[in-house]
Amino acid sequence: SSNATHSADVVVIGGGQAGLAAGYYLRRTGLDFVILDDNPYPGGSWQHYWQSLTLFSPAEYSSLPGWPMPPYPNGFPPATHVVDYLTRYEHRYELPIRRPVSVTEVTRTDHGFHVHSDDGGWDARRVINATGSWRQPFWPLYPGISEFAGRQLHTVDYRSPEPFAGQRVAVVGGGNSAAQIVADLSAVAEPLWCTPRPPRYLPDDVDGRVLFTVASEHAAAVAAGRPSDGGVGGLGDIVAVPSVRAARDRGQLTAHPMFTHLTAGGVVIDGVEEQVDAIIWCTGFRPALRHLHGLVRTRGDHHPVVDNHLVDDPAMMFLGYGDWTGPASATLIGVGRTARSLLAPARRRPR
Ligand code: FAD
Repeated sequence: SSNATHSADVVVIGGGQAGLAAGYYLRRTGLDFVILDDNPYPGGSWQHYWQSLTLFSPAEYSSLPGWPMPPYPNGFPPATHVVDYLTRYEHRYELPIRRPVSVTEVTRTDHGFHVHSDDGGWDARRVINATGSWRQPFWPLYPGISEFAGRQLHTVDYRSPEPFAGQRVAVVGGGNSAAQIVADLSAVAEPLWCTPRPPRYLPDDVDGRVLFTVASEHAAAVAAGRPSDGGVGGLGDIVAVPSVRAARDRGQLTAHPMFTHLTAGGVVIDGVEEQVDAIIWCTGFRPALRHLHGLVRTRGDHHPVVDNHLVDDPAMMFLGYGDWTGPASATLIGVGRTARSLLAPARRRPR
């Protein structure tokens, strides 16, 4: 029943790839654990990505620990391939996942934490946050945002270009989501791509494999006190996946400066009003950590911790999100290594 109180040694919040990687290593500890996920189906946020999205790496470079992602013969796999893989992964390892269960709050107790959810509560000695960022889209505030009469949506609301057929659509943001959505739209609509600074493309031969290597080298250099060229951020922002490269080569990936404000009918760039029917804000995400509102004081850079743990409490752990929890920890290939190091101490500790 929804008011029941359960208990577990460890509660993992989030059942996407990060939660599954945690589960893989938790099984080996002998600890009693549960994974709570608010999606109706397996696959984490991959089930919500836009339809044309493909991975930026081949399947062989996108695997969680233990069982490799099955090969995808024709190029980089689509999101559905990842959903299928994650679904089979959690069955294969019989991971104890409950869904849909939405965690609303975590509070401290004498022995650890109480995890509050819409399906009862869990007492836990440790909590692993693996909630990703998709549930916390970031919308910047621009003057006139409430005057604009057209449709405004965020990356998280975008599924396919068809609803925008024949329209002029402002796409905001200089990252991968914006570039890919502009490329996607350009088949049927007229995108107006607005970026705060000129887009920076990674070299065409750089894909997810290179990004993982660069992130790992950066982390090793920092750990050893050696100089580093800045990691992935120093390389550029946009991976030239095939759809992006094709649109760019067709001349359809032209970036305009960011608009200063919105009007009822459009946006104003360098003092000139551009009429648009819709605006898609591809302006990024924050870690989905609202359930920790009473516990965690986020710093200016929107994350609360060092080395996977809450600064003042090693029993509150974080996995995924970004490089701040481990090198490339926000990716399929990287999260396993972070999960393993996170749970290595638990493995040695007798119960
Ligand atoms: P998620 O997949 O978001 O899973 C978190 C789960 O926790 C979700 O099911 C969520 O609903 C749930 N949750 C959140 N809050 C709560 C709560 N309070 N209570 C209960 N459950 C909750 N990585 C790659 O390796 N290769 C790629 O090609 C790649 N492409 C990407 C393309 C896009 C558009 C994006 C956004 C990301 C991409 N990534 C890629 C990065 C990364 O792999 C994905 O973002 C991945 O989904 C992150 O997994 P996760 O488990 O950390 O988070």
